Amino acid sequence: MFELTSTQPPPVAPPEGNDSGGGSRPATATTAAAPGHLEGLNAAQLEAATHSSGPLLVVAGAGTGKTRTLAARVAHLIHGGSPPDRILLLTFTRRAASEMLNRVGTVTDRRAASRIWGGTFHAVANRLLRAAGPAAGLPGGFTVLDQGDTVDLFGMLRTEEGMGEQGRRFPRAETVAAVWSRMVNSQTPLSEVVNGQFPWVADHTEDLRTLFAAYNERKRKLQVLDYDDLLLHWRALATSPATSEQLAGRFEHVLVDEYQDTNPIQADILEGMCRAGAIPTAVGDDAQSIYRFRSATVANLWTFPDRFPGAHRVTLEQNYRSTSAVLNLANEVLAASDRHLDKQLWSDRGMGSRPTLTVCHDEGDQSRVVADRILDLREQGVDLRDQAVLFRTGHHSDALELELNRRSIPFVKYGGLKFLETGHIKDILALLRMLENPADELAWHRVLGLLDGVGPATIRKVLPELGLGETNEPDGAGQEPTEPQRAMIRFLDGAGRWPRQATEGHELLRSVLADCLAEDPALNLGAQLERLREFCTAVFPLRYDNTSARLADLDRLTTVAGSVTDRSRFLAELTLEPPERTGDWSGPPHLDDDWLTLSTIHSAKGCEWHAVHLLHAADGNLPSEMALSDREGLDEELRLTYVALTRARDHLDVTFPLRYHVNRYSSDDRHHWAQLSRFLEPVRDHFEERRSSEAGGNDLTLDLRVTVTDEIDTGLTALWEG
Ligand code: ATP
Ligand code: MG
Repeated sequence: MFELTSTQPPPVAPPEGNDSGGGSRPATATTAAAPGHLEGLNAAQLEAATHSSGPLLVVAGAGTGKTRTLAARVAHLIHGGSPPDRILLLTFTRRAASEMLNRVGTVTDRRAASRIWGGTFHAVANRLLRAAGPAAGLPGGFTVLDQGDTVDLFGMLRTEEGMGEQGRRFPRAETVAAVWSRMVNSQTPLSEVVNGQFPWVADHTEDLRTLFAAYNERKRKLQVLDYDDLLLHWRALATSPATSEQLAGRFEHVLVDEYQDTNPIQADILEGMCRAGAIPTAVGDDAQSIYRFRSATVANLWTFPDRFPGAHRVTLEQNYRSTSAVLNLANEVLAASDRHLDKQLWSDRGMGSRPTLTVCHDEGDQSRVVADRILDLREQGVDLRDQAVLFRTGHHSDALELELNRRSIPFVKYGGLKFLETGHIKDILALLRMLENPADELAWHRVLGLLDGVGPATIRKVLPELGLGETNEPDGAGQEPTEPQRAMIRFLDGAGRWPRQATEGHELLRSVLADCLAEDPALNLGAQLERLREFCTAVFPLRYDNTSARLADLDRLTTVAGSVTDRSRFLAELTLEPPERTGDWSGPPHLDDDWLTLSTIHSAKGCEWHAVHLLHAADGNLPSEMALSDREGLDEELRLTYVALTRARDHLDVTFPLRYHVNRYSSDDRHHWAQLSRFLEPVRDHFEERRSSEAGGNDLTLDLRVTVTDEIDTGLTALWEG
């Protein structure tokens, strides 16, 4: 084991009770002689990083170094002799995992760091299930449905069950999928979910039952797993006596960042994975729990000691990220909620400049103000990459994006419409999925629908002709082709009755698919994508505008796939950890380029920037209108605001437009008036407040003390009396 130097400061005693509250300040920096991976940690962080006797929970506020401590702990474990491939590090995003593994790699051996099991719960589930799946009764080549596909499948079943035709308005497929996911992730019975969160669909509960049964059955038949299935299967393997020892026995340590945003299934998984003696470490912040809509529950933090008796708890209170001006504001916003633990963060980074609050005339004005400010800061030496614009919802940055384009300010956006959700990318992925898993009827639907003259009715007729669809038999195991494989062969042979307009596309599709499935010569994935692109080139113009930009996206996909040989792995990784922007494919725009980050607050979790610009801080946007009617929802919006504010290191600029035009894209001037966010109104005095010139900042203000009315009245009277 690694030995601490004798100059190590005494560990800080863990605080009693829930939280140590504000006031007392922990001992600061560690010894200068601390070994590389522990260097610079304060006493409490060091205690957490080196804790060696059982479960560990770190509950601490924003910017107190939780993530940094977790990385130091992983490095410490490796230094102490834990084999890296027996360490499992679960993070919220792929980006977070790779940043953390990078950090570990700089203070340990890079090769060792690359052997750590790191990633999101879903990505790790996928990896484990592919390895362990057949033993657990899962089909080897299962494909993963992303959330969009889940909605499509519900849409398909809803039509099949005739539920759209009952004369009553049946809930949309998106709503049905949301109810399903809430029910599964929170492990709450349907009736409770409906009454609690979706009361407007209560009349349809019986139909939902039918639909859910059909959905689950169809998934199994199609050999697809949705996101929730990944977690459920992992949990089953991790907790069943038959498998848990073998699976959990693989790891000595399981560490989870952002534990406040895990759901009950993920908490069960952590517990299961530690059954065979692995030591759990969880870090989180109750004040930053912002994923209730995915059934995350902050209760996981509080029940950690019940699940893991004897758990040691460490609290961190020094914030290393922000100036005091930013932190004081954030602390006060949080204090307005009576549901958080008393947490007073402090910082010794100095007071810094006051956050600014700029009242703008309208959204266009806000965009100009923000773009000006971004460029000003850049002039002052704050690179674009050290600045971020944050907002509550993806479309809140639309107007700003136009302004940035106009001024040629490069940016990347996180958390908006994902690359994979665009139609043409879904098309090519459906082609790959069809090749990978011919039972994936959803993929068939999407691909066949690309053919000229082929609509849902033709597809419903053709699939049974091929031997797919509702007449599917369960799959046989062994050497014989399965029914879906036979359906693919029939399709390639030209079976099915096709409309005349489809002839050309249909022939091309068959030849392209046949090439991709041929064993001699076997095409690698890149070559398969090239071939599939030919089909897309033929059919995209029928369906989309801007075909050349879409084909360019396919080329990017092909470049990335070029080095990957395993189609199924490529597909699963893409589905589970989609690139959040097209730029993800090509890396940063140019090596020495500088670009700005645009991000939803949700996607900014765990990140930090020198300057943060928070847009649309108007009531109705932050908090979102949708959350206004429910107390829990409103509380979460407050935490979201807190997350946004605590991303800033030195500069925090908040803006909101006074007017929201009813029609954004016309010259029509009808508008609503907006008010500052209810969370920021009480702390207005923390800001240096400005009005943009368009909002009246340059208004002529006169201080005249004469009355002119009498004079006017005299003149008027003269008119009618004269
Ligand atoms: P969040 O709650 O937002 O996820 P966090 O608690 O995970 O924040 P980190 O991101 O780990 O905090 O750290 C915040 C910043 O403080 C980082 O820039 C980190 O490098 C710095 N930091 C953390 N601990 C120390 C320390 N002991 N000395 C100097 N800087 C530190
Ligand atoms: Mg963090």
